[in-house]
Amino acid sequence: MNRVFNFAAGPSMLPEEALSRAASEMLSYKGTGMSVMEMSHRSKGYIEIFDHTVSLLRELMGISDNYEVLLLQGGATGQFAAVPMNLLKTSADYVDSGNFAHGALVEAKKYGDVRVIASSRDDNYTYIPEINKADMNPNADYFYITTNNTIFGTRFTSIPDTGNVPLVADMSSNILSEPMDVNKFGVIFAGAQKNIGPAGVVVVIVRKDLLGRANANTPKVLDWTKMAENGSMLNTPTTYSIYMAGLCLEWLKKIGGVEEISKRNNEKAKLLYDYLDESKLFKGTAMKEHRSIMNVTFHTGDNDLDAEFVKTAQANGILNIKGHRLVGGMRASIYNAMGIDGVEHLIKVMKQFEVERG
Ligand SMILES: *Cc1c(COP(=O)(O)O)cnc(C)c1O
Repeated sequence: MNRVFNFAAGPSMLPEEALSRAASEMLSYKGTGMSVMEMSHRSKGYIEIFDHTVSLLRELMGISDNYEVLLLQGGATGQFAAVPMNLLKTSADYVDSGNFAHGALVEAKKYGDVRVIASSRDDNYTYIPEINKADMNPNADYFYITTNNTIFGTRFTSIPDTGNVPLVADMSSNILSEPMDVNKFGVIFAGAQKNIGPAGVVVVIVRKDLLGRANANTPKVLDWTKMAENGSMLNTPTTYSIYMAGLCLEWLKKIGGVEEISKRNNEKAKLLYDYLDESKLFKGTAMKEHRSIMNVTFHTGDNDLDAEFVKTAQANGILNIKGHRLVGGMRASIYNAMGIDGVEHLIKVMKQFEVERG
C-alpha cells in the first residue's frame, strides 16, 4: 500500500505501527469480541486502556504526582476558556506570539482582566516577542505562553521564569517533541492531533495546588477540579482517540522516548533549515533565532511559484504542504511521526524544483 508523506499541521500523520496495531485490533480487542469503539468507558477493559495512556504520558514527560493529568474534550480551543474559568480571579498576563495565542487572550478577556505584556502581532508574528521582567505583574493569577506557534513556525527557545506566578502553556504543537521540565509549569495543555494521537482529546496537565479555584459558573466539562475528582469521566471521554493516543505513545516509548525523538526532530529541522539557508529560491519566513523544529514555514516570494511548488510536491507524494493563509507560502509540519525519509524526500523535490524553476 502506498502511503504519502503527509506534512499537515494537524490532524497530522501518525506512526504507521500504531495504525497497523489498531487495524489488527479493530474487530476484536484482545479477544473481547468487540472493538475499543464499542466498549463502555466504565468497563474494566476500557479503564485499563485509559490508565495506560495516562501512565505513558506521565512516564514519557516525567510528570510527578504533584500534577493531575486530564484527558478532556473541546480541544485546545476549549482550554482557551477553561484556563481563565479555572484560574482567573483578578488579572492575567499573556504573551501574544501567534494566532492561537491571540485567540486565547481574546477568549480570556470575556472572563476578566487580561494584560498583553509582549506581542509580535504587528510584525505578523515572525518572532517571539521579548518579555521584560518589569512588565510582568508579580500578582497575576497566571502567566500565559504558547510554546510553539504552529502557523508561523516559531517557538520559545527558553521558558520564562515567572517566579511564583503559575506559568500556563499551550503546548499543542510541540508537546513530546523535546525534553521539557514539567515542574516549571502550573498548567500545560495540548490538543492531541499534532504530536500525541488523533483529534478528539485534549491533554491537560495541572499542578494540584491550582485546583479548587474554578469560578462558580464554569461548565463542569471544563472544570479541572471536578474532572480530576472523576478521573476525566464526568461525561463519556473520547474513548477511541484515547486508545489511539496510547498506541502512539507506546511507539514513542519503544523508539527511545522524548530524548531520542528530540534528536531526530532536531536533525530533521536542521536538514530543512540548512537547505533553506543555502537555497536561492526558497526562504524561511520565521526569524532564525526563533525557528520552530515542528513547523517549518518558507516561501519563494512569488505566490504563483509557491502554488506551482505545492502542485509539484503533491505530484511527488508530498501532501498538505501549503502554508496557512495568514503566512502564505509553504509550511512543512514535521512532527514526531514524520521520519527523516520524509524530510529528505521533500528536500530532494525542492532542489529539483529549484533547478527547473529557480
Ligand atoms: C492546533 C492548535 C490549537 C487549536 O487546537 P484545537 O484542538 O483545534 O482546538 C491551539 N493552539 C495551538 C498552539 C495549536 O497548534
